Amino acid sequence: MMFANGGVLGLMIRDLPPALRPAALRWQAGTLVIAIGCALYAFPQLLPVVPLVTLANALFLSGLTLYLRALQRFFRHPPRHVDLLPGIIGTLSVLWFSAIHPDTTIRIIVVSLAWAVLMGRCVHVLRSGKRAEASRSRQMLKTLFLLVAAFTGVRAAYFVAIAIPPDFSVADGRNWMNLVSPMVSAVLPVIGTTAFLLMCSEHIRRQWENAASTDYLTGLANRRTLTEVGGSYFRARSPERQIALALIDVDDFKAINDGFGHDAGDLALKHIAATLEAEITADQLLARTGGEEFVALLGRGDLPSAQLAAERLRSAVQRHPFILRGQRISITVSVGIAVSQADDADFASLLRRADQAMYTAKSLGRNRVELAA
Ligand code: GH3
Ligand code: MG
Ligand code: MG
Repeated sequence: MMFANGGVLGLMIRDLPPALRPAALRWQAGTLVIAIGCALYAFPQLLPVVPLVTLANALFLSGLTLYLRALQRFFRHPPRHVDLLPGIIGTLSVLWFSAIHPDTTIRIIVVSLAWAVLMGRCVHVLRSGKRAEASRSRQMLKTLFLLVAAFTGVRAAYFVAIAIPPDFSVADGRNWMNLVSPMVSAVLPVIGTTAFLLMCSEHIRRQWENAASTDYLTGLANRRTLTEVGGSYFRARSPERQIALALIDVDDFKAINDGFGHDAGDLALKHIAATLEAEITADQLLARTGGEEFVALLGRGDLPSAQLAAERLRSAVQRHPFILRGQRISITVSVGIAVSQADDADFASLLRRADQAMYTAKSLGRNRVELAA
């Protein structure tokens, strides 16, 4: 089953976005390496006992280390050399306590500790992910690691308690713990691999949602989100509680592009977006709806308060010049505001009136706020 799971993951890696592939490749390698370790125990006659036990343990520890690397790649943590230590120390101890100074109890304790450290690190990485992006698959993976870590502790305690006889082998099927252990070790490569894939698909879904609702350059809401949110505000309005919006167009933006280049223009747009965003309250929405055009949904509002809010936005842009390579570049915006009326047909008609008001502001000399008729 582990080999099959590793194989299926291998088939799916090509369908994952490039950013997720390195993590998935590491997870797949971890699964296959653990599967080979298990296969060694299934055919113990292949090798003498010392190389068999050492190699199998080295493979298990490498598999867990690869899982840790996969999670670090997934959550964009840099790799740390110290994370190789549990695997190296664990493997050397297995060699020492099976070939040089045979002691199965100490061997099992050291290996269990190495496992516990690696799984603890995995849980730590899983915990570090953004809270807002918590998903069931991530929770599931965390629980699996904790479960296997807990079992590893119980298993070590059991072997300490029973005082292992000298002829004991962990491949001996007469001991019940030896039957349970491979089943529990299969939890991560089998169920864990499914959870990991679910985590990948969750990540892709979130990226899609994000890409569909936000503007790539500024990270603000895009026109689609504005239309959705604005539409729901519009439908929820009442004669006493109208909604207001401000349409903001940058003045003479072409001059910035022409004078400093398109890349500088992009930076200027980001700067303007950040300046406007800083003035927006939690119940308002700022969107970039076109090239150098923004819309602030001011929420429920009457004309005077909308005018005040729009004036604040306009003056904020004027007060915060765009600094490019030490040079101050003044930027201004023209704003048109519209407040919904009983006879507005839809949200788009509100936007149209704000647009007309913005053009009035342009024709009256720019850098000013105008009200829709
Ligand atoms: P006005 O005061 O009348 O609004 O003048 P303007 O120059 O701002 O208006 P116009 O519509 O003539 O030019 C807008 C320019 O914005 C033209 C276009 O090249 C530029 N633009 C649109 N989108 C982007 C973008 O994403 N990045 C950059 N750098 N420029 C953009
Ligand atoms: Mg424009
Ligand atoms: Mg413009």
